[in-house]
Amino acid sequence: MDVDLHCHSTASDGALAPAEVVARAHARGVRVLALTDHDTLEGLDEAQAAAQALDMRLINGIELSCTWGGATIHVLGYAFAADAPALLKATAELHDSRWLRAEEIGARLAAKGMPGAFDGARAVQQELGDSGNAPARPHFAEFLVRAGHVRDRAEAFRKWLGAGKLGDVKQHWPTLAEAVATLREAGAWISLAHAWHYDFTRSKRRKLIADFVAAGGQALEVVNGMQPAEQVGSLAILAREFGLLVTAGSDFHAPGDWSELGMYRPLPDDLLPLWTRFDHGHSRLAAC
Ligand code: AMP
Ligand code: ZN
Ligand code: FE
Ligand code: FE
Repeated sequence: MDVDLHCHSTASDGALAPAEVVARAHARGVRVLALTDHDTLEGLDEAQAAAQALDMRLINGIELSCTWGGATIHVLGYAFAADAPALLKATAELHDSRWLRAEEIGARLAAKGMPGAFDGARAVQQELGDSGNAPARPHFAEFLVRAGHVRDRAEAFRKWLGAGKLGDVKQHWPTLAEAVATLREAGAWISLAHAWHYDFTRSKRRKLIADFVAAGGQALEVVNGMQPAEQVGSLAILAREFGLLVTAGSDFHAPGDWSELGMYRPLPDDLLPLWTRFDHGHSRLAAC
């Protein structure tokens, strides 16, 4: 695919520096890329410079953490001005709260007989690259593997870090409505990320989307990497029902992982991709 609107770098929990993500995307045929690191704008300048040198288009992006109905939800924002005051304020707050959260995760794991997780996760993160941001759950997962507390990262999430587990510390996140309001103030296009990944019933998922739309969200991420085609189909039905624009992306984090830049299931072709609304009228891209 030549458009990828969801990926991560070492600015959050990815394994490649922003410029490396851009170069890898370009090599894989991506020509319009959005870097969507968790709760940070840190990687955007480097990514923009790399994209310019390769004559590809980099859309400013971010994936904001928030809560809705007691669950952690991710909201994607696109094509905002990176110096928008609302976003600078929100990311500054999230920067601080993510450090507090990482300490809290470390303390909770220590209380369960797994000491040293904060420093261990930070060490994992620093091996990948230098970031001023707090270690994220994937860094904690890798620490738990290395310390022998779990067999693999999947088990780390299943037992300790996944939704509703002790490491899913979310008291620091804004609400869904607040996150959407921040993005709207910054002039962003807004898409609800991977709505199938939340462990919700069908009716709760529909309610989430209704609330997202009521808050001012405009698009649904109908395709997230190689998620099963039936899930894409269900999300497409919801996009039609709510009259939403759609987005798609790989959610790439690291080479050799479960996702790869530019790789995701095709969007049903009756849906209107959000990227057709980015400026300069990318009609060629609209058809892909
Ligand atoms: P954080 O920003 O610290 O909340 O970490 C969120 C990231 O953790 C997500 O973007 C995924 O990369 C990863 N993650 C969340 N849940 C799982 C899971 N169940 N299995 C594997 N990775 C997960
Ligand atoms: Zn991530
Ligand atoms: Fe996400
Ligand atoms: Fe993501």
